[in-house]
Amino acid sequence: MRTRMIAGNWKMNNNAAVTGEFVKKLEAWLDSDEVGKKSAAAVKDKKIEIVIAPPFTSIGAAVAAKKGSLISLSAQNAYFEPKGAFTGEISLSMIEETGCKYVILGHSERRHIFGETDELLEKKLAATLATKLLPIFCVGELLEDRESGATNDVLTTQLKRVWKNLKGDVVGEKVVIAYEPVWAIGTGKTASNDDAQKACAFIRDLAASDFGRKTADALRILYGGSAKADNSAGILSQPDIDGLLIGGASVAPESFEKIISTAI
Ligand code: PEP
Repeated sequence: MRTRMIAGNWKMNNNAAVTGEFVKKLEAWLDSDEVGKKSAAAVKDKKIEIVIAPPFTSIGAAVAAKKGSLISLSAQNAYFEPKGAFTGEISLSMIEETGCKYVILGHSERRHIFGETDELLEKKLAATLATKLLPIFCVGELLEDRESGATNDVLTTQLKRVWKNLKGDVVGEKVVIAYEPVWAIGTGKTASNDDAQKACAFIRDLAASDFGRKTADALRILYGGSAKADNSAGILSQPDIDGLLIGGASVAPESFEKIISTAI
């Protein structure tokens, strides 16, 4: 059984002080609220995993505020080189040192605002898998791709290149894929349950054809794109969707808690 993941990508939101308060509130909810306690039990039973990805400068505050191990931490990006003259970049070992378990790679904002290419992301994914960090690797099509019927071609291109040199057991056990249609990110437009399912099933079939059914069955695939408490239960009910990567609705503890409640 694949452990569901409810992951909050805070982007450039929540400074250190706000992050500390968020973590305290979320842990208090997991410890005292009736649904919160059920969620904590689900984390302990490995039915769900709760992940937050604060900005780099807030990760330390999250670690300092965290009392237990019910919340896992993720970075939002990393550079593949181990050290050197790369002003403004953060290495994977620096992220490991903070106590993060995950790192998000290839988010559409990295691809489309900062120009990250499949070639760069191949290096980032390989470098991540050489560390203890686990990648949450984002893929997804632009609106024009969807409208021209090219969604599956885009997903194929984005995945085949980055995983072509990886072993199936590594992909199945360590990689989390986040299917995030670009037109649904931060726009309030969510993919229909059926469209999200179809894209995630396509990704799973691609993994099956490249690595075999065992890898495909183990691979965790998340949906991301304007997910919120109102639509999360429907998306999570889809057989090939193993969780959510949430931007806007993860920044405040109350809405994030509501989404977690729909995943247990
Ligand atoms: C994201 O940034 O990964 C995301 C899915 O954002 P939002 O939920 O705000 O659309």
